[in-house]
Amino acid sequence: MNILVTGGAGFIGSNFIFYMLDQHPEYRIVCLDALTYAGNLETLEPVMENDNFRFVKGDIRDREFVFDLFEEENFDMVVNFAAESHVDRSIEDPGVFLETNIMGTQVLMDACREYGIERFHQVSTDEVYGDLPLDKPELMFTEDTSITTSSPYSASKASADLLVEAYNRTFGLPVTISRCSNNYGPYQFPEKLIPLMISKALAEEKLPVYGKGENVRDWLYVEDHCRAIDLILHEGQDGEVYNIGGHNERSNLEVVKTILDELDKPESLITFVEDRAGHDLRYAIDPTKISNELGWEPTILFDEGIKKTIKWYLDNKEWYGNIEDNKL
Ligand code: NAD
Repeated sequence: MNILVTGGAGFIGSNFIFYMLDQHPEYRIVCLDALTYAGNLETLEPVMENDNFRFVKGDIRDREFVFDLFEEENFDMVVNFAAESHVDRSIEDPGVFLETNIMGTQVLMDACREYGIERFHQVSTDEVYGDLPLDKPELMFTEDTSITTSSPYSASKASADLLVEAYNRTFGLPVTISRCSNNYGPYQFPEKLIPLMISKALAEEKLPVYGKGENVRDWLYVEDHCRAIDLILHEGQDGEVYNIGGHNERSNLEVVKTILDELDKPESLITFVEDRAGHDLRYAIDPTKISNELGWEPTILFDEGIKKTIKWYLDNKEWYGNIEDNKL
């Protein structure tokens, strides 16, 4: 099995590469990544010497380059993580989100059509479902929830999902899509909530929290996500969408207070800042389909996962220190 993983120098993609090389030592994994501000080759150091791993620097928007790579490698499957992924940046500058997240996905699928593959898997997000009210905890996103986007980021991801479904229907491209909730764990770029708050708390700097910190996210430990994608690749049905969620809803304020508590830092470090424009209130995933059909369940609950994550950042200060110096 020769699998192309795009965006593998980023947070979830790198964790997925480690997971797959560990679970399927006989598989070959090729990582294609443009190394934008969010990509970090240092993250992939542990697998660079692995004979079954190859890193290729390149852009999924570059049709000629992507087609040459497919010609050379004869991939069996493609897992597309490559994306511009930060909502705040999409509000500042939407253009690159449309180019990478939509057009880049099209280039990859065109190459899949040309060279033939067993499966194209699109890594999507629960943000394509818009948001839920804070006062109706019984409501959750299912795969049938309508697509209603709030930010240029989520609009670009939703557009890509629709294109993936269209390539399946029109061209018969074998595809699957997964829509997951907020991930956390090792190697996450410190612009995202959890690593940002950990690094600020360690430095005893102010912790900026949007609005009143009431927005609720459903936290998914990254390794549980990787296992779900592995299952979908091998047992998921062609053309299907699978929601992946941890049943671990927390308000942003709860998350930040937990981090401060774990690090023994005072809550007085919390500073409320002006809310994000169009800020989604609540995300909550109903993972019944993947649970019933593929037997997936989250194994790491938030209280355990946040401890593991904080420990990882404490043990790897150099990793995020290098990023902060070079890229933030
Ligand atoms: P990330 O920002 O950490 O990593 C993205 C990677 O893609 C980086 O390594 C970057 O260099 C690469 N990349 C960007 N543009 C590229 C291009 N044009 N060509 C090739 N490579 C390019 O993102 P992440 O948090 O790991 O997210 C991975 C995927 O999962 C994304 O598609 C994202 O939409 C989705 N997702 C993430 C979350 C989350 O909580 N992080 C939740 C739901 C869905």
